[in-house]
Amino acid sequence: MNDGAIAAFAKDLRGPVIARSHPEYEEARKLYNAMIDKRPLIIARCIDAADVMAAVNFGRDNKLLIAVRGGGHNGPGFGSVDDGLVIDLSMMKGVRVDPIKRTVRVGAGCVTGEVDHATSAFGQAVPFGVVSTTGVAGLTLSGGHGYLSRQYGLAVDNLLEADVVLADGRFVTASEGENANLFWALRGGGGNFGVVSSFLFRISPASIIYGGPIIFDLADAATVMRWYRQFQPNAPDELCVFLGLQTVPPGEPFPQEHWGKKMCALVFCHNGAIADAEKAVNAARATLPKPIIDWAQPMPYPVLQSLFDPLLPKGLQWYWKGDFVNGLSDAAIDAHIAHAAKAPTPLCGMHIYPIDGAVHRQRPDATAWSHRDTMWSMVIFGVGPDPAMAPVLKQWARGYWEAVHPFNLPGAYTNFMMDDEGEARVKAAYGDNYQRLAAVKKQYDPGNLFRVNQNIRPAA
Ligand SMILES: Cc1cc2nc3c(=O)[nH]c(=O)nc-3n(C[C@H](O)[C@H](O)[C@H](O)COP(=O)(O)OP(=O)(O)OC[C@H]3O[C@@H](n4cnc5c(N)ncnc54)[C@H](O)[C@@H]3O)c2cc1C
Repeated sequence: MNDGAIAAFAKDLRGPVIARSHPEYEEARKLYNAMIDKRPLIIARCIDAADVMAAVNFGRDNKLLIAVRGGGHNGPGFGSVDDGLVIDLSMMKGVRVDPIKRTVRVGAGCVTGEVDHATSAFGQAVPFGVVSTTGVAGLTLSGGHGYLSRQYGLAVDNLLEADVVLADGRFVTASEGENANLFWALRGGGGNFGVVSSFLFRISPASIIYGGPIIFDLADAATVMRWYRQFQPNAPDELCVFLGLQTVPPGEPFPQEHWGKKMCALVFCHNGAIADAEKAVNAARATLPKPIIDWAQPMPYPVLQSLFDPLLPKGLQWYWKGDFVNGLSDAAIDAHIAHAAKAPTPLCGMHIYPIDGAVHRQRPDATAWSHRDTMWSMVIFGVGPDPAMAPVLKQWARGYWEAVHPFNLPGAYTNFMMDDEGEARVKAAYGDNYQRLAAVKKQYDPGNLFRVNQNIRPAA
């Protein structure tokens, strides 16, 4: 591609076009996961839907491989591409809350904390994930689960409308009443169907929650995990507890005597009356072993949402593998603890997030996300700051996953998959919905223009 073509494209855009010679190129190409090092030809920083349309047309007409970037948090780095075009939406930050209609309109470049900031002023929230620097777009389009999912459903269950630029450059709106097939596929099918330029979500009450971590020594992990497998499925919808096997970070505010200890954490979020929360969490405290740290307490919802952000800055090495999980047998618990104990860095670990409650109250074919009868979504993450440790992080995460996978379901949350898992795993993620997804892909993107993702091939 010659400089003249790139310069002509740049004139079409309100936002900046960053080619390899641009002084900001090195910074602009960086992803959240520093294990992924891609060198795109052009990064188009879009400002509005017109920019997105121009970028899609430019990429398609010039036969460039296209990657779409929202928050850039994706594990395998699908927000970038070698030698192709990155449609970078990170400047599209508009957020508008409508407190009467109880909706929020969100630009495709927002991270979840930016939306929390806007909605919390009204005592409301959209159920997103558990780290506030994650992009709304990538999280939502593949499902989106977090602290409020048992109460309000997945992020996709709260999506009312999306503005989309299709592979042929057309702009459409998708909702239950308009382009309903596309809307169905967008709710879980990832970035396969077009570039979403803005989202309209339902908002729901969430202001002061009772939450935070209660941390136990790894010696008590088996007891805690056995307790958890009984407790969480029977808890009220407003109480979400996710479980982690990790290491106490060696730094403030963690008490120094526990730095570096392997641990089992329960992270609580009760979104209801504080008196009810105290009763429920105190009842749990009474039956659990003695913790080494107990920080569960009332706090504003956005505080819980961003509690772990400082531990996970951009630029770490990440390798992860996930599974959907329906039971935690004693043998599975033993395998988890044995592998978590061998974590090679303090940031490595395993999380298991509940996806029952309101998530189960949708039919499996209501949206592309099909796992409406699965109890948990699990992720094992090998994370650390040192690039030299990348092979060790991968090896540990893979070994851990191989040991526990036989206890789990064949599929995983596509946002917890890398790019080396194969088509069978993508199909398993969607179950019976895969065929319809392939048909919608054929309808909206028959040439598979949008394929830098957990790809759904157009139906034959
Ligand atoms: C620290 C951390 C914590 C996490 N916690 C959770 C959690 O609690 N719950 C949860 O559900 N997930 C969680 N995730 C996973 C997260 O949802 C995925 O990594 C997700 O892909 C991130 O979205 P993004 O927009 O930041 O990523 P990007 O890398 O920008 O994009 C991810 C994918 O979405 C596509 N895409 C992005 N924007 C658009 C768009 N506007 N239109 C079409 N396609 C688009 C991209 O092409 C790419 O395939 C977490 C990830 C991290 C790193």
